[in-house]
Amino acid sequence: MARRQFIAGNWKMNKTPNETVELINALKEKVAGINEVDVLVCPPFTALPKAMDAAAGTDIDVGAQNVHWEESGAFTGEISAPMLTELGVNCAIVGHSERRQYFAETDETVNNRTKAALEGGLHPIVCVGESLEQREADQTTSVVKRQFENGLGNLSADEIQQLTIAYEPVWAIGTGKTATPDQAQEMHACLRSLLEENYGAGIADKVRILYGGSVKSKNAAELLSQQDIDGALVGGASLKPEEFEGIVAAARS
Ligand code: PEP
Repeated sequence: MARRQFIAGNWKMNKTPNETVELINALKEKVAGINEVDVLVCPPFTALPKAMDAAAGTDIDVGAQNVHWEESGAFTGEISAPMLTELGVNCAIVGHSERRQYFAETDETVNNRTKAALEGGLHPIVCVGESLEQREADQTTSVVKRQFENGLGNLSADEIQQLTIAYEPVWAIGTGKTATPDQAQEMHACLRSLLEENYGAGIADKVRILYGGSVKSKNAAELLSQQDIDGALVGGASLKPEEFEGIVAAARS
C-alpha cells in the first residue's frame, strides 16, 4: 500500500511568535501546491496562535512539540491537549530524544502522553531511537523494541492507526551525521514488523514511520526512497526555507 509521504519540521526552542510568522510566510510559497506530501511545522508553544493564523489556507499544518497527559492541574510549565486543540492544533510530537535526555522523559511518560494526545483528538508523532553508546553495544534493536513496546504496546488497533512513529537515532540528531539509508531502512523494517506482530499486517502497512536525524535537502531523496521510510522529522533544516523546500520536493519524487 502506498503511504502518503509526511515531512514534519521540529523547530525546537527557536523562533518568537513574529519570527514564526515570517518563517511560515517564507515556507508557504515554497510548498504551495505540493499536494502529494503532508507538510507540518512545530513551532514553540508561544508561537502556536500566530502560526495557526499564518498557516490558515496554506498547505502547511501546525503541530506542537509536546503534550501533557492530564487535561489541567498542578503541572507547572506543561500544556494539555485541550489547550492545543482549542487553537486548532491537531498534532503533537511526543518522546523526542531531547525530552528523554534533558527532561527525564521515560517510556512510561511517553505512553501517558501518547494516550492523552489520542484521547484529546491530537495526532501524535512518537519518537524512538538509540544512543551512540547503545548502537556501539549492539543494542539498537532491543532499545527500539523496548521503546515501542513500553511506549506504544498497549494502544488499541484503532489508536495505533492515528499516530506516526519517528525513528530518530540520537547520534544523528543535530550532529550532521545521518544514518545511511540502509541503517535507517533496517530499523524502519524492524518497527514495521513490531507493528505487524502487535496489530497485524493491514495496520502495519498503514502506519507511517518517519526518519529523523540530520535530514537535509541533499540526503533526503535517498533516505525517502527506502521502502519503509514514509517521510522525515526535520530539525535544523526545517528552519531554512530552501532546505525544507528541497526535502519536501524530495518526498514528492
Ligand atoms: C529533530 O529534532 O527531530 C531532528 C531530527 O533534528 P536534526 O534534523 O537537526 O538532526
